[in-house]
Amino acid sequence: MIIGAIEAGGTKFVCGIGNENGEILDRISFPTETPERTTQRAAEYFKDKGIEALGVGSFGPLDLDKNSPTYGHVTTTPKPGWNHYDLLGHLKRELNVPTGFDTDVNAAAFGEARWGAAKGLDSCLYYTVGTGIGVGVYAGGQLVHGLVHPEGGHVPMRRHPDDKFEGACPYHGDCLEGMAAGPAIAKRWGQGGDSLPEDHPAWEIEAHYLAEAITGAVLLLSPKKVILGGGVMHQSQLFPLIRGKVARNLNGYVASSALDDLETYIVPPALGDNAGLAGSLALGIEALRG
Ligand SMILES: [Zn+2]
Repeated sequence: MIIGAIEAGGTKFVCGIGNENGEILDRISFPTETPERTTQRAAEYFKDKGIEALGVGSFGPLDLDKNSPTYGHVTTTPKPGWNHYDLLGHLKRELNVPTGFDTDVNAAAFGEARWGAAKGLDSCLYYTVGTGIGVGVYAGGQLVHGLVHPEGGHVPMRRHPDDKFEGACPYHGDCLEGMAAGPAIAKRWGQGGDSLPEDHPAWEIEAHYLAEAITGAVLLLSPKKVILGGGVMHQSQLFPLIRGKVARNLNGYVASSALDDLETYIVPPALGDNAGLAGSLALGIEALRG
């Protein structure tokens, strides 16, 4: 079985082919340009690969309602040219195979549930913390959609008592993304996270906001695993800080042995930076199975 997968990001597209075991057999990536040029490049990559289905995990917001006339469209993105673009429709017309479509973070959650850190579990959360923050939700063996799809990167939180930063989200100011995504770190400290030392106070504050959001999500959704990926989470010193704060926030209230050892509960993606592409592959396999 050869399945196509696209991790459609706002800055780059990753295209690959893989099989039913989640093995990625080939991949390319290229910068996200105009929608026409970018989808054309993706379609050209797949043309001679003999794919039986295609899975697409995309940046959003997206229309995921299969009964909607604009199913498969990117909707209200501020990204120039992509507003209301029929991403899935263009790919379908070019490649003419069954397709699966979801948010990039739902795809990553699905990949981790199938082959990664949440393998064998029927629920998990996947956070990506990078230029933005997104949250994929897998619950009861299904990816969660609703009015649209979860937008857990924009939840409000309690402020860190020492933090006077006003926030960087154009919609909400001090939501999670506005306080803890890469650009917020850079704006608060006048330099990017990459150039801040491991013991800089930035990481204490960063861990505070992520722990606030994760605590709320654990209480609301009761996920069996919380997976934290994305460029900012390459700062591995964040993991123990976040686990400590989540434990303090929960304060023993949620009675589950899974929470006895947060080192195995709040974890990096087992698929590493492949989680998104592998998840898109899993979406493609689902599409083929109908
Ligand atoms: Zn926001």
